[in-house]
Amino acid sequence: MSNSNDLFARSCYVTPGGVHSPVRSFKGVGGSPVFIQSADGAVIIDVDGNSYIDYCLAFGPLIFGHADSDVKSAVRHALERGWSYGAAEVVSLELAELITGNIAWVDSVRFMNSGTEAVMTAIRLARAATGKDKILKFDGCYHGHSDAMLIRAGSGLAGETLPSSAGVPVSISTDTLIAPLDDEQAIETIFELHAGSIAAAIIEPVPANYGLLPQTPKFLQGLADLCREHQSLLIFDEVITGFRLGFGGYAELSGIQPDIVTWGKIICGGFPVGAVAAKRALMEQIAPSGPVYQAGTLSANPVAMTAGLTTLRKLLDSEHYENLENLGQKLDTAIDGIADLSVRRCGSIFWVIPDGQAGYMRATTQIPAGIESRYAKMFHHLLKAGIYLPPSPYEVGFLSTAHDDTSIEELVTALSLSF
Ligand code: PMP
Repeated sequence: MSNSNDLFARSCYVTPGGVHSPVRSFKGVGGSPVFIQSADGAVIIDVDGNSYIDYCLAFGPLIFGHADSDVKSAVRHALERGWSYGAAEVVSLELAELITGNIAWVDSVRFMNSGTEAVMTAIRLARAATGKDKILKFDGCYHGHSDAMLIRAGSGLAGETLPSSAGVPVSISTDTLIAPLDDEQAIETIFELHAGSIAAAIIEPVPANYGLLPQTPKFLQGLADLCREHQSLLIFDEVITGFRLGFGGYAELSGIQPDIVTWGKIICGGFPVGAVAAKRALMEQIAPSGPVYQAGTLSANPVAMTAGLTTLRKLLDSEHYENLENLGQKLDTAIDGIADLSVRRCGSIFWVIPDGQAGYMRATTQIPAGIESRYAKMFHHLLKAGIYLPPSPYEVGFLSTAHDDTSIEELVTALSLSF
């Protein structure tokens, strides 16, 4: 019996499913989770002393890898000044200025504690600004766990047949309209059927919570046009892609600008954060300037904000994105040719599954049946070989600047031996 197994058994007595967020439980791959003791760079070490090259990276935020030395030293200094004031302070101001000063189409940002909160606020803001109630959401996109968004979601719910979580009132779910991804005709029909009542369409422009299902610029532009035509707002949920595909996320890369963007964990390099940003006129509707209530005792926590300032200052150097892209290309080339294995990648986000097909998939319905058991086998083989992939076939992997050619070689060797 390993220490991890013991800890999991203990944990199951005091916490639902033994974990504080569902995917961590290994339910998607079987077995019991490893308990992590420490992490540095690209490596995590469990309580039994096993080390793993980490390609999960806390589900994305750690673009510089674990315990980045610059972030660590900034945070140490911040701790000396106390860690929660519940009052105005300067670091969040500097972070907001850094973001609005470098992303041309946003000029106001509100920080909170999680991506879930950010999406909740974006939706409330869209409803208030338009005076409409319905939200158009896409099948397989995950936007956190607020009631309105737990309808046909991805992430920990990917692969489940339940349309939503228990406990979500029907009265709330009726205001969430679901469209398939990558289907222009379907969204046109929905906008026509619900003319005058859609406050906003929300989408992950590069959906990364049900595998990786990047949408074409044509589809996203079509969605943006429909929103404009019907006086609905477009929300890009860039909790995964913001600051990861490039400083300005997918919106900057594509030139398709949403009315509201939601960001999350990557801003503060793995410290808790969520953010909503938009043009000033819209953001001024949020309290205390306007009638849309949003608040949080721990919002813009100065320690997290300090980690954010250090992280985003570093990310202003575009060389990091170029290096990550180069590393990604090495991964593509090395994986190409391993039996049945496909890697789909957007920048430093990748999805590796044994599905034996080439090319991107763009909707959940294109994901072949039966990948769960094959991924589970591959996952456990890799775990034994010292590689930590996300513990679900539907979660994507991430590269960080702490990974290098050797980490890629080790991943690819382990993958090729797992077939
Ligand atoms: N939106 C997207 C696109 C996400 O991927 C996630 C979580 N990974 C969320 C929202 C929710 O963020 P959080 O887990 O910080 O609440």
